[in-house]
Amino acid sequence: MGVQSEAKRYAGKVVRRLGRAYPDATCSLDFGNPLELLVATILSAQCTDQRVNVVTKKLFAKYPSAADYARAPARQLERDIQSTGFFRNKAKSIRACCEALAGDHQGEVPRDIEVLVGLPGVGRKTANVVLGTAYGIASGVVVDTHVARISRRLGLSSEKSAEKIERDLMEQVPRKEWIALSHRMIQHGRRVCTARRPACDGCPLESVCPRMGVERNDSRDH
Ligand code: SF4
Repeated sequence: MGVQSEAKRYAGKVVRRLGRAYPDATCSLDFGNPLELLVATILSAQCTDQRVNVVTKKLFAKYPSAADYARAPARQLERDIQSTGFFRNKAKSIRACCEALAGDHQGEVPRDIEVLVGLPGVGRKTANVVLGTAYGIASGVVVDTHVARISRRLGLSSEKSAEKIERDLMEQVPRKEWIALSHRMIQHGRRVCTARRPACDGCPLESVCPRMGVERNDSRDH
């Protein structure tokens, strides 16, 4: 068996085990339409999803359309999202992105990754979240800090940059698994394979995982 198919076989095992462990894993950001998910994802940088959900409850009612964000005075929008942190940059991104949506896309969030990443403030991660979760389009694999860490520990990638890790995952995992895989890895990263203390004892991947970069005493019971 070639190196490539060996890697795919291993990735298949990981995907199946994560699927059994987290069958219902989904996005933990609240949203009612693609625009809301786009805004929530921008706000979620360096912030917990719970905090974002508290803020967006009022925000979505106040700004129902892309044009509403585009028209909002900068200071006002900054105040509305302040508690998510980095609010100046986030407000700037949301306004610039919504200006482009309102001006060039009839206020709709495009369904195309190339178009999406061309919007101000939207990177591949945000674009993949929106396309995968709001539209069900498998454009790539969302690589956040959890997915990056777990991919390395599992030996699915030895890369550091999110883009290269994503490329490795896309090569090894079939497209139909991409959307669910991100959600499942994120849940696994929050519950079991945490940054500081991965709970390897009892982890559903324990018997296949090479634990790359994990010190034995990192995985104490907790
Ligand atoms: S065995 Fe340990 S390092 Fe590997 S995925 Fe599980 S918790 Fe993470």
